[in-house]
Amino acid sequence: MKKNKNVNYTCVHAGELKDTIYGGATAPIYTSTTYDYRGPGTNLYPRYFNTPNQVALAQKISALEQTEASLIFGSGMAAISAVFMAFLKSGDHVIMQRAIYGGTSHFAAAEFERVGITYTMLEHINEDTMKQALQDNTKMLYIETPSNPLLEITDIEKVSAFAKANSLITAIDNTFASPINQNPASLGIDLVIHSATKYLGGHSDICAGTVSGTQKHMEYLWKTAKNYGGSLSDVTVHLLERSIKTLALRVKQQSKTALKLARFLEKHPDMKKVNYPGLKSHPNHQIAKKQMYAYGGMMSFELKSHIDHNDFLEELKVIKPALSLAGVESTILSPALTSHSLMTAEERAQQGISDRLLRFSVGIEELNILVDDLEQALEKSRKR
Ligand SMILES: *Cc1c(COP(=O)(O)O)cnc(C)c1O
Repeated sequence: MKKNKNVNYTCVHAGELKDTIYGGATAPIYTSTTYDYRGPGTNLYPRYFNTPNQVALAQKISALEQTEASLIFGSGMAAISAVFMAFLKSGDHVIMQRAIYGGTSHFAAAEFERVGITYTMLEHINEDTMKQALQDNTKMLYIETPSNPLLEITDIEKVSAFAKANSLITAIDNTFASPINQNPASLGIDLVIHSATKYLGGHSDICAGTVSGTQKHMEYLWKTAKNYGGSLSDVTVHLLERSIKTLALRVKQQSKTALKLARFLEKHPDMKKVNYPGLKSHPNHQIAKKQMYAYGGMMSFELKSHIDHNDFLEELKVIKPALSLAGVESTILSPALTSHSLMTAEERAQQGISDRLLRFSVGIEELNILVDDLEQALEKSRKR
């Protein structure tokens, strides 16, 4: 694992598309969907992932994830589904972590059977469980760490080593960590996926996805991805490129504030439990420390029963109840009522997702502002 010491430089300058005509400081945006077939743009087409802005942004993502190549997609799910459909075929089996993004587990449940792919979901990923789940036709291992909403940590190096020993391809959803806090390719993972809708975009106004890996793997992925047609429009590519210039600044600030907030909340008399990989009390804190540069801006907590859960959400003034995450603004949600509402109460309980759990996405606001907001909301929602 080698941390990029000049990560702000990488965010701003990697894959820079120069304005060679006017010398402008920012990249020109090429929105053409058609180019002169006799000219230098022969065969450029947005759905082929090869327009100037798409290629430049892919280089920036690759530099951040320390991989040879990347592809940019129209959403996180477009990236995830392309990975499954490119690297798996009828008759194959995939081992997946249970605690993954809801859309991903839904994709497996809704789409795999129809195309003849089977899968095993693992509650905990370790050598024993992976060995048990391994079949002759297993082709892929798919993980997500830190996970949503409990911030569970999977040991990336152990997964890579097991996969290599058994000739499996590995994919990780690296969305929660962002490339600023975790570079799974440097720990042996083959395919690194992001919902760029989250930290990479960072302003809650872009829907996009990315996949990074070796040149060979990306060329293989491209052959399928261009058939499914999930590329990102060049105008949004431009917005994403602009957002990533401040990615490290944002994520470092969010991670710093989140660690302090988690330590504050852990000691708070109104809190039953705080889940944050940066806390010493986190069951896999040592693994997180080994594989992450910082612990990120996501956490979850459970309020004690003397706090009215709904009143608490009503009383927050700065922190917004909202479905998505990783924007510059702090947001909060109840997984039981939103992301995990399709599960039964028993299924949620089995996975440790209490109805009183709240997932908190820490924004770039100052620590004291967030502490004050939480304190005043707790005060007003105490049952009397
Ligand atoms: C949001 C999210 C996705 C899906 O991304 P979309 O851009 O909504 O398609 C995948 N994984 C994680 C961890 C996410 O948070």
